[in-house]
Amino acid sequence: MAVENGMESLEFRAEVQQLLRILSHSLYKERDIFLRELISNASDALHRVQFVMLTEQDVLDSDAELAVRITADEETNTLTISDTGIGMTREELIENLGTIAHSGAMAFLRTLEEGQKLDDIIGQFGVGFYAVFMVADEVRVTSRSYRPDAEAWTWTSSGDSTYRMGPASKATRGTSIEIQLKEDAKEFLSSWRLEQIVQAYSNYVSFPIYVEDSVANKQTALWRQSASEVDEEAYEDFYRQLTMDFDPPLLHLHISADVPVEVRSILYVPGNRETGPLRSRTDYGLKLFSRKVLIQDRNKELLPEYLRFVEGVVDSADIPLNVARETVQASRAIGHIKRALRGRLLRAFEELGEEDPERYQTFWEAWGPFLKEGVATDFAGRDDLLPLLRFSTSVSGDGLRSLADYVRDMKEGQSNIYYILGDSPQSVSRSPHLDAFRSNGWEVLYLVDPLDAFMVQSLREFEGKALSNVDDPDLDLPETGSEPESESEESAAQLGPEAFGRLISRFRSILGERVVEVRESKVLKGSPCRLVSSESGPERDMQRVRRLLEDDYEIPAKILEINRNHPLIRNLARLIQIPASDAFVDLTVEQLFENLLLLEGLHPNPVQMVSRIESLLEQAVAASVPPETPA
Ligand code: ADP
Ligand code: MG
Repeated sequence: MAVENGMESLEFRAEVQQLLRILSHSLYKERDIFLRELISNASDALHRVQFVMLTEQDVLDSDAELAVRITADEETNTLTISDTGIGMTREELIENLGTIAHSGAMAFLRTLEEGQKLDDIIGQFGVGFYAVFMVADEVRVTSRSYRPDAEAWTWTSSGDSTYRMGPASKATRGTSIEIQLKEDAKEFLSSWRLEQIVQAYSNYVSFPIYVEDSVANKQTALWRQSASEVDEEAYEDFYRQLTMDFDPPLLHLHISADVPVEVRSILYVPGNRETGPLRSRTDYGLKLFSRKVLIQDRNKELLPEYLRFVEGVVDSADIPLNVARETVQASRAIGHIKRALRGRLLRAFEELGEEDPERYQTFWEAWGPFLKEGVATDFAGRDDLLPLLRFSTSVSGDGLRSLADYVRDMKEGQSNIYYILGDSPQSVSRSPHLDAFRSNGWEVLYLVDPLDAFMVQSLREFEGKALSNVDDPDLDLPETGSEPESESEESAAQLGPEAFGRLISRFRSILGERVVEVRESKVLKGSPCRLVSSESGPERDMQRVRRLLEDDYEIPAKILEINRNHPLIRNLARLIQIPASDAFVDLTVEQLFENLLLLEGLHPNPVQMVSRIESLLEQAVAASVPPETPA
């Protein structure tokens, strides 16, 4: 550390140096966002001092107006942004503007490399302050903390590898940022231009922002206005300023209630999921105000966890300022608000589903997994979530169906809701389990998302109809004419009980302990066989997930059901009478069994089947060639 006329020189971390190089040497069109970032910091600082004043006695300048001031000096080519916020001590200046940023800088640089636009992301990694170097040759931050005994300090840097610290004289509380503008950044001296930027990015900052002597922002607490006074555009603007997400939200909700607790709130459902993980540093939660005073930036208690994709603000006069200390009063008020917000949101989702199915599909694709998590975790409120679920089904085509759709279209004699678990709609649609359902015209829900297995354990019935897995051994399906499909006269002959019995024993001896039983199927139509679960209970719905998650998980043995009318089975029964075919029969039975594991999504290693299939093909081809054919 070098000391020179009272100023000491310190070095930025390597990541910050790299970030600064990018910012000061590149030509970004959207340079005006530097002002948004500085105002956002000033606003944070004002909120924090406002809070401190309500909870602590000794605050410097407690009468000062809470505001941001922007002034420009054309002669010196400088722009100054000052606030009467919480201020920074010497240590805080070093920490906040020097040290702390390096991890954010790293994450930021990585995201930038992935092709994200700089202006979309700079505020999200705790490096927003540095955006000032897009327009500055030099920056001087002078700050005085609210603590009465703190002294003023100054931080300066020209955006290279170092910054300097030194004592300063500043009589008033807060922070002042003096920017020596670059030659090509003089546009930011114009009041008109400054006002325009404030209105575009910072209109809803709740403190006055003075450009020279007049207030440039609306500073309305939008959520405290009545919904009829607020137009769509204002809601979208506010969303953008709140989240830095530049895509419009899918849905907004303006809530106003006075009993049992006072609450004013605006909630948003973002349009796409990608905005979520990117906003990593701040993570989730709602902004909590009490009479417009910001109490918590990211409150997680106001919504059930599965609704964490919702963004917004909540303001309640009934929340005490020391909410963080978990007083009984606070938690009671929070509990009331949570119930109200949850109820309103779920109702809004349901209405969207009824009124605008197309939009709802977008909503479902982005946020459906969170609602499924809700079904699995919100025991008391599960029934409110069920109308929101959507499924691909055996009749849905490209669309999605709700449980209500399913129940409405149930066929006569059908008392259960049926589902099949699997890996994709394409794979489950080929499942032998669906044979009987297809011929009866009964619908089957496709549960093909790994989350579905968790969800269905908590989803045992809907409107009094039990949910039932199609691999149930005791499926109660109506008999439909199970005539074998058109075949030559001879092979269509019924397989006698004796021959069928022999075949079943043969299956048993080949498969051994891999099956608990081999028996005739009453439900199969076009498929030769299927596997059904011998055990019931939720555990079996989890088998697929466990196989994915646990390397050494062994699938419990199942019951093999055989379709005695299927030509393959009938011919196999004939073939077992010929001793010379033993090896071929063994391979065929093995392969039939493994086909079923594959169809169930339970096969540990499908590639293993290839050599057996080749061997079967070899024999089938050989058998098909007439003896006199030349080679
Ligand atoms: P972020 O605002 O996301 O934390 P920034 O790079 O914008 O990241 O700011 C870094 C930190 O510097 C802030 O968290 C805050 O502690 C401090 N800071 C910046 N500007 C001010 C200000 N005007 N008043 C008080 N503290 C400030
Ligand atoms: Mg910031």
